[in-house]
Amino acid sequence: MAELLVRNARIVYPATRGFVVDRGWLLAQDGVISGLAAGDVPVDVARLVAGRQEIDAAGMTLLPGLLNTHMHLYSMYSRGIGTGRVSHSFLDVLQDLWWRLDRSLLKDACWMSATFSGMDSLRSGTTTIVDHHASPSYIAGSLSTLSDALSKIGLRHVLSYEITDRNGIQGAVAGVDENTRFFDEVREKKGLASGMVGLHASFTVSDVTLTTLRERVGSRKVGYHVHVAEGAVDEEDSVEKYGKRIVTRLDDAGLLGPRSIAVHCVGIDASERELLAKSGTPVVVNTMSNMNNAVGLPAVREMLKAGIQVGIGTDGYTANMFEEFRNTLVGLRHRYEDPAGFWAEVQQAQIETNADIVSRCTGCTVGRLEEGAAADFILVDYASPTPLNSENAFGHMFFGMSADLVDTVVVNGNVAVKGHHVLGVNREDLERESRKVAKAVWEAFDRLS
Ligand SMILES: [Zn+2]
Repeated sequence: MAELLVRNARIVYPATRGFVVDRGWLLAQDGVISGLAAGDVPVDVARLVAGRQEIDAAGMTLLPGLLNTHMHLYSMYSRGIGTGRVSHSFLDVLQDLWWRLDRSLLKDACWMSATFSGMDSLRSGTTTIVDHHASPSYIAGSLSTLSDALSKIGLRHVLSYEITDRNGIQGAVAGVDENTRFFDEVREKKGLASGMVGLHASFTVSDVTLTTLRERVGSRKVGYHVHVAEGAVDEEDSVEKYGKRIVTRLDDAGLLGPRSIAVHCVGIDASERELLAKSGTPVVVNTMSNMNNAVGLPAVREMLKAGIQVGIGTDGYTANMFEEFRNTLVGLRHRYEDPAGFWAEVQQAQIETNADIVSRCTGCTVGRLEEGAAADFILVDYASPTPLNSENAFGHMFFGMSADLVDTVVVNGNVAVKGHHVLGVNREDLERESRKVAKAVWEAFDRLS
């Protein structure tokens, strides 16, 4: 049995009804938390077990690992790229940048993107990402390539391929097949990987593709991961082509439900909120990305009032969930002109709803500090200059802690990051290799219209 014992940690679960233990211990066995309590390690737990790893936290703060419920690893090669164009709308941004970049990615670029974005995620304290992948020039096998890279660095992941008609019907069908292939490949395995079915967005997925998708998914119990009403173009297209709003279209196609994720939902109306709530479909908001694309921010207050679960993701804009949940709070306060709003809501979204979403996607309890939950946690080198207790723990996390204070990251009971470094990789070699790949990606990008 693989064991990891952490002693002398300040254990903080910053949930609405969370707890703080000033000095305590945590034992992980075979990837699962099997005990945690205040004080010294009891004698029966302390007895040395052969092969057990031990960490003296020396007063560092132990938190559940952060979860990113909407990510695009493949965005990594956009760093420093020049599009040579001026984008005037959300559709321009897609056409000028993202739909040229994803077509430029081959196997090695996918692997490197997952490795580097995955390392950034881990080092900033994220232990699970729910990723939405696109590489139209390399579809079959792409999710396994990402999964291999992420498993190597030790990051838990839920992967899907974004089905779209924008590269022809063959591309759409290949996307469907890659989702079901990967879902079947990992569903019986006990590793770090889980699968969903991804769709780009309503406005790039035809009814023919939706029918093919239903047929090929068959009786599998999958969740769907789809962008919804991120820009106005999506809702306009649905009403014009299908005579119904997007969420109604997704509902008619059988894509809603508690295992699914509706991303963004900036432009949805009250009838769509009602459908999302009725079906138990969570919404994941991505504030920094929405602001960057100037598409507006979603009506989160109305969503919550309608009974929708709202989680937080980064949309690939950053790997840093500390940055993202901070910007979610200030963005929503700004949107609603309410300087006192959304504190409890952002806490709930970041700590509890993201945990609910990932737990449903993976089929195991993730994002919680309790016996039986996945042993995914972080040690933060945080000095607390003011009292820290169960009532104000999220305040310390929000205003005091940050990604650069993350010292150690444990996923599935294994140490993935120690002293800020991702273990088991040679970063210099990877960097050198990745820059060669970047050259090929950028040259391909420049050739595309
Ligand atoms: Zn996205």
